[in-house]
Amino acid sequence: MFMGIMGAKAQMKADFKVVPLPNRIVENTKGSQAFPLGNVCTIACPADQPQMVRNAHFLAEYLKQQTELTIPVNAKLHKGDRYIKLALNKKITAPEGYRIKVEPTLITIEGSTPQGVFYGIQTLRKALPIADAGQIEIPLVTIDDAPRFKYRGMHLDVGRHFFSIDFVKRYIDILALHNVNTFHWHLTEDQGWRMEIKKYPRLTEIGAWRKGTVIGRNTGIYDHRRHGGFYTQEECREIVKYAQERYITVIPEIDMPGHMIAALAAYPELGCTGGPYEVERMWGVFDDILCAGKEETFKFATDVLDEVMQVFPSEYIHIGGDEAPRTRWKACPLCQKRIADEGLHADGKHSAEDYLQSYFTKRIEQYVNSKGRKIIGWDEILEGEIAPSATIQSWREVKDGLRAAEQGHDVFFSPNSTLYFDFYQYPETNWSKPLLIGGCSTLEHVYAFEPCPENISEAAKNHIIGVQGNLWTEYIKDEELAEYQVLPRMGAAMETGWTQPEKKNYSDFKNRQHRLFDIYRLYGWKYCTEAWRENK
Ligand SMILES: [Zn+2]
Repeated sequence: MFMGIMGAKAQMKADFKVVPLPNRIVENTKGSQAFPLGNVCTIACPADQPQMVRNAHFLAEYLKQQTELTIPVNAKLHKGDRYIKLALNKKITAPEGYRIKVEPTLITIEGSTPQGVFYGIQTLRKALPIADAGQIEIPLVTIDDAPRFKYRGMHLDVGRHFFSIDFVKRYIDILALHNVNTFHWHLTEDQGWRMEIKKYPRLTEIGAWRKGTVIGRNTGIYDHRRHGGFYTQEECREIVKYAQERYITVIPEIDMPGHMIAALAAYPELGCTGGPYEVERMWGVFDDILCAGKEETFKFATDVLDEVMQVFPSEYIHIGGDEAPRTRWKACPLCQKRIADEGLHADGKHSAEDYLQSYFTKRIEQYVNSKGRKIIGWDEILEGEIAPSATIQSWREVKDGLRAAEQGHDVFFSPNSTLYFDFYQYPETNWSKPLLIGGCSTLEHVYAFEPCPENISEAAKNHIIGVQGNLWTEYIKDEELAEYQVLPRMGAAMETGWTQPEKKNYSDFKNRQHRLFDIYRLYGWKYCTEAWRENK
C-alpha cells in the first residue's frame, strides 16, 4: 500500500536492483542520460541460432506484456536507430553468466550460453516498471552477473492433489522469472500416481484416482469426492519442452520403495502382504511399501524407470527413498530371505531392514547408471550404506546434508524447517485460513537460510550444489493457493541460490520485491504480503 502512493513518474525509470540481486552493477549514467525504451526499433540476435531467436521472442513478449511496446525481432536497422542486441560472448566464463550493457543508443545482453542471455533478459524485464506505451528510461549501467549455485530448484507435488498441464506451465513461467533452473516434478504418491506408464496401464486406470479425500487434518472424515488425474507421456514431453525453452530441467520423481500405495492398489502383488490396497485418502507415512524381497518389484521399478527415462532427458532421475517404514519388511518372509541371502546384518547404527533399503537403492541406482543417468534421493538414502554416486536432497537436519557433502556426495538443500513452502508464512497467532499442514517459515526465515556454512571443509563446500523450495500439496487443493504459498518465498530462496551472501540484505530485498509484485499482479499470480503487515 505504501508503495502504491509513490508517484507514477518515479516508477517510469528502470531499476536493475531486481530479485535475485545481480552480483555486480556499475552505473555509468552521467547527468540525465538514459536509454529511452520507447524508441527501440528492434531486438537483434543471431538469426541462425534458434535458441537466441527464441530468447529474442521471449524478450519481445515480456516487453509487450509489461510495457505494451511492440518490438520486432531482427528488423532492418538504420543509422542512429536504438536497439537491443542479444549475443553470445565466450569471454564470459560462467555457463549461466551474462552481461548487460546499457548505452545511450544500444542495450547489449551477452552470455556465454543462450541460457546466460536468458537470465540477462529476465533481469532487464524485472528492472522495468509496468507502464503503458513504454515511456521508460533505462539508466546507463554495466551488469556482470552469474549465479552462486548451479542447482536452483523448485518442486511441485502433483500426487496429493492433481494440477492441470496448464497450471504446470504457469508454474514454470513463475520459475523462469525467478531464475530457477530445475523443476522437480513429484509424480507419484500414496494418494495418486500421475504419469502414464504404457507397460502398466492400471497405474493410471486405478492408481490415479481416489474415492475421496480426508477433510481437515486427518480427521477420518472424508469428502467422498473422487479426485485424480494423470499426465500422458505426450503431455509430460510437452512440459519437458516448455521448461527446456525456459532453460529449466525437469527432474521427474518416482518415489520408491515408500509412498507407493497408489501403485500397490493397481498391482497388489508388488506389496509384502499382497493387499488388497486402496489409493490413500489420508495424509501421512504408511506401512505398505514395495516388497524388496520379490524380483517382480525390481522388474516393475526398472520397467517404469525405462519409460520415465524415455520421456525425461534429465541427467538426474529422482527415486525418492524417503519415509519407508520397516514394518512390513520385518514381517515379510521374502524380505527376510533377501536379508539373509544378501548377508545383511543389523549393527550399532542401522537395522538389517535399513540395509535392505540400501540394497534396494543400490540396485535401482546401478540400473539408472547403466542407462547413463544418475539418481537423486531424499536424505533417507544416507541411512544404511550410502549409494555411492547419488546426489542427496537434504530435507531433514541440515547437519546430515553437510555430512553427506563431507563424504563426497553432491547435496542440495530443501530443509523442511525453512524451504517447505506448504508451511505458513506467518506465526501461529495469525493462523486461521487457509488450512495448511502447519509449521511456519516466514519470508525473513527463508531469506536467512545459508546452505554453505563457514565451518565445513573446502571440499565439502564444492559438493553443495544449491537450494530448492518444495511445495507439498496435501492441503493445497487449488492453483491460487499453490501460487500464494510459493510467492514471494521463491524470490527469497532464489536470491540465496543466485546472489553472493555478502551482497544479501533482507530489508533491501524487501524493498526490491515491490517491482516483482507488479509483475505478479500483471500475470494474475497470487502472492502473500504478510511479511509487510507484520512490521507495521
Ligand atoms: Zn516383502
